Amino acid sequence: MEAEETRCAACRWWGGEWRDDEKGPLGTCRAHAPRTSQPKRRGRFDYARGEWPWTAATDWCGEFEGKGAATAP
Ligand code: SF4
Repeated sequence: MEAEETRCAACRWWGGEWRDDEKGPLGTCRAHAPRTSQPKRRGRFDYARGEWPWTAATDWCGEFEGKGAATAP
């Protein structure tokens, strides 16, 4: 089991945005560019949009980076 401090909630790439009653806080991982969804039909047109992957606050992966000190843009 991973330590709490290496979970998505503590990662610089994670943005908590929503809460699920079963999974708790959910957010998007922005470590990489958004992925294009499967095209969906809207009226006469098919469209796809970019989506960042959703993860739970307690998820983790090998690309974790701590939030660290704020840096100037
Ligand atoms: S999936 Fe990995 S890189 Fe993305 S927020 Fe979670 S720990 Fe960070």
